[in-house]
Amino acid sequence: MDDYDYDLFVIGAGSGGVRAARFAAGFGAKVAVAEERHLGGTCVNIGCVPKKLMVYASHFSEDFEDAAGYGWTVGERRFDWSKLIANKNSEIARLNGIYERLLINSGVEIVEGTAAIEDAHTVVVSGREIRARYILIATGGVPSRPSEPGQDLGIVSDDVFYLEEQPERVLVAGGGYIAVEFAGVFGGLGSQVTQLYRGNLFMRGFDDDLRHGLAEEMQKKGIDLRFHTIIDKTERTSNGLLAHLSGGDKLEVDQVLYAIGRRPNIAGLGLHSAGVALGRNGGIEVDGFYRTSVPSIFAIGDVIDRMQLTPVALAEGMVVARHLFGGLDTAVDYTDIPTAVFSQPPLATVGLTEEQARKTFGAVDIYRSRFTPMKHSMTDRDEKTLMKLVVARDSQKVVGAHMLGQDSPEIIQGISIALKAGATKADFDRTIGIHPTAAEEFVTMRETVPEPEEARAAE
Ligand code: FAD
Ligand code: NDP
Repeated sequence: MDDYDYDLFVIGAGSGGVRAARFAAGFGAKVAVAEERHLGGTCVNIGCVPKKLMVYASHFSEDFEDAAGYGWTVGERRFDWSKLIANKNSEIARLNGIYERLLINSGVEIVEGTAAIEDAHTVVVSGREIRARYILIATGGVPSRPSEPGQDLGIVSDDVFYLEEQPERVLVAGGGYIAVEFAGVFGGLGSQVTQLYRGNLFMRGFDDDLRHGLAEEMQKKGIDLRFHTIIDKTERTSNGLLAHLSGGDKLEVDQVLYAIGRRPNIAGLGLHSAGVALGRNGGIEVDGFYRTSVPSIFAIGDVIDRMQLTPVALAEGMVVARHLFGGLDTAVDYTDIPTAVFSQPPLATVGLTEEQARKTFGAVDIYRSRFTPMKHSMTDRDEKTLMKLVVARDSQKVVGAHMLGQDSPEIIQGISIALKAGATKADFDRTIGIHPTAAEEFVTMRETVPEPEEARAAE
């Protein structure tokens, strides 16, 4: 053991790395973590946290309008982008400090700089050679860029958080989480937003009702959604950027934001020479306890390209720490992981989509409710909430819960406990609602939606 400087050397102080380092130190291991940029990683600095703050910022425009229905007269409204960014930066700096203290107080040493792996037990940071019994790679992911001419004129999500000015006209390319979240942010802040998606309907992988519902709501809010469209090339003009779209349209904007996925961050890590094998999409290949092809090297989080979500990276980090130092071998359960998209309105989901459930179980019962939320009974806003339960007919287990509408991320978090516990539709039915809420709809839906063929026959 004395041959090693540390029991565990973690590369990357993001969601997964910090969690693993703190837990390992808690079990008595000697731990260090290298970070080349900012403590807290993507989520804290250029992901979940600043994104959600910007979502809050952008929602005020509707809140001011909606207030009129309740008798309020709201005075002059002005939005100051630089103030938002400055306040956001101070909040993130505060969180960076919390992360630093958390690590130090847990006994983890922080090593500033870029780490590379030299061999199964050696890492080099800023010329310093460090020996560790175990190495954990938690370097996250980076935004992908397209290959079309002029793509370098566009920005990616990392850049959005530091733009000096709010773009008046924004073109968002992509149809996943980041694209719809930022289309909503810029739209709410008053920018003119066009969003392109290459397929026939965005948000692939989510339940079709949510996908259609979100498209409709975003269009009502003035987002110009164009499906079956990509950017062929972009060029600079005297007034901004000119995007040439497939189909022949040209669009002049101030910023093009590419949100077309993220890939594992492995550049310069020395994986090849260390013998660490890669899998699909360049992610590091690991077993059920996150061990790579080199037995002393582990990897977790976005760099293994399983589910790019902070709570998943946290769970994986804890498994590694417990497995190596805590004598506990409980693996991460990847079933029924809830997820939310902070679009406007937001959507959240847990379990199977209707399509997946039909494939898995054959017969399913679908319960669906679409309604105007109570808040908008006294405003001019035309926004609908959608809730849906997918039930396996034979077992009557609820295998999917989906919601589009205000507070859906908060509501689905609770529903996901019920799914995890194996709740049946009868369990939902015997649960008393909380009135008046939107959430009570999840325990009061009684009528199944007609089967697709019955619905077609009735048309
Ligand atoms: P990261 O948090 O990315 O941390 C990796 C760290 O490693 C970084 O700090 C990096 O600087 C460091 N690093 C990399 N290479 C080296 C090196 N060679 N040496 C030293 N340090 C290195 N997830 C959610 O669950 N909810 C959300 O709302 C959400 N919103 C998001 C919004 C955006 C815009 C983005 C981009 C992502 C969002 N995510 C969200 C995803 C979430 O941020 C990631 O899944 C999560 O951060 C992954 O954690 P990680 O530990 O794998 O990596
Ligand atoms: P996503 O994988 O969610 O979406 C990528 C989108 O880009 C898809 O619509 C995809 O289309 C499209 N696309 C891919 N390649 C191209 C291309 N070459 N040209 C045009 N379009 C393309 O990635 P994001 O970048 O939005 O986010 C990355 C990940 O980060 C998410 O998957 C999620 O795990 C995480 N994240 C989580 C958030 C949350 O929890 N709220 C928020 C933000 C990010 P297609 O569907 O056809 O493949």
